[in-house]
Amino acid sequence: MPNTYHIVLLPGDGIGPEVVRETRITLEALAPLYDLTFDFTNYPIGGNAIDETGSPLPDDTLAACQQADAILLGAVGGPKWADPTKSVQPEQGLLKLRKALGLYANLRPVRIFPQLTAASPLRPEILQGVDLLVVRELTGGLYFGPRQEGGEEAYDTLIYTRPEVERVVRVAARAARQRRGKLTSVDKANVLASSRLWRQTVTRLMAEAFPDVTLEHVLVDAMTMHLIRRPADFDVIVSGNMFGDIITDEAAMLAGSMGMLPSASLGDGARGLYEPIHGSAPDIAGQGVANPLATILSAAMMLRHSLGEEDAARAIESAVARALDAGYRTPDLAGVAEPDQTVEVVGTEAMGEIVRSYLAGESG
Ligand code: NAD
Repeated sequence: MPNTYHIVLLPGDGIGPEVVRETRITLEALAPLYDLTFDFTNYPIGGNAIDETGSPLPDDTLAACQQADAILLGAVGGPKWADPTKSVQPEQGLLKLRKALGLYANLRPVRIFPQLTAASPLRPEILQGVDLLVVRELTGGLYFGPRQEGGEEAYDTLIYTRPEVERVVRVAARAARQRRGKLTSVDKANVLASSRLWRQTVTRLMAEAFPDVTLEHVLVDAMTMHLIRRPADFDVIVSGNMFGDIITDEAAMLAGSMGMLPSASLGDGARGLYEPIHGSAPDIAGQGVANPLATILSAAMMLRHSLGEEDAARAIESAVARALDAGYRTPDLAGVAEPDQTVEVVGTEAMGEIVRSYLAGESG
């Protein structure tokens, strides 16, 4: 009997439906090759959900996500809903969903495809071998502490508890164990009390539960320099919410292209939310030119982290690499090639088809 997985698709707004559609077809093409069955259902979120129901996260959408094995999201938002005076915003749907599902660990891998080093602002020799994973705490810390504003004074509060630190570090340490066995914990322990608790907790947990994983602590200000100067030295990086917010964007710039980077948000169970790191790209929506690879690579993360289908995940990743090797590029990467490589510019659907053709080649 093939494994049947219930996947909720949240295409969202702008280019979201275009990149999610290509990803769904890619998963359907993969299924028979790995003896899997996917049961997909679409639900609204974000701007289109506001238009349909008045809410950016309708009850039906949340209920379906709570029942699913995994959730694949495109992107939410766009100029149509961008009026800041409106109390209902598309992004609220996403924040509410992460909170409701208890998705406290945000995973963003950054791998530099050698074919695309020219897209990065850094020199190729610095990028050689870059393959890192940033794990950011997503539901605590400075963004969720008590705050006050109005008048001449305002404050935010940075609170972490030991259990909050332990659970996200466990996710990061387990990932490190499956990768190159190295964990870098980022904090500001020379100044902040919450960072000192973070550091003590990480040190103790790693010694007790993950003695086989090499641990280092790095101050956040130093980390921003190391990421630019020697990014290939890092394997898994874990940090609190605000530092992680900054580090993940910096790490994304190593790759140089928004259209290539996937992400996962995980909680205690296997269920996760998978999405590209880019937004809804309203400037190119509806033109059939969006790069679907970040979403297709997010589906590979879904296979790995929520469904335990590592071989199928690798098949997708290798098909993407082979499509790039063969010189196929969506317009966002049109000018990016090695000096001796010929590039063929293709649209969203063609790129999906090319990836699928390499999937079949992989299994055969
Ligand atoms: P964006 O990521 O949507 O676009 C930035 C630039 O990158 C644009 O020029 C766009 O065309 C390009 N781009 C992004 N993804 C691409 C892809 N797959 N292929 C080719 N080019 C791509 O960021 P933005 O313009 O700042 O935001 C647009 C909307 O998306 C806003 O409403 C914002 O709030 C929303 N947004 C949503 C999410 C999310 O859903 N998680 C994340 C970021 C931004």
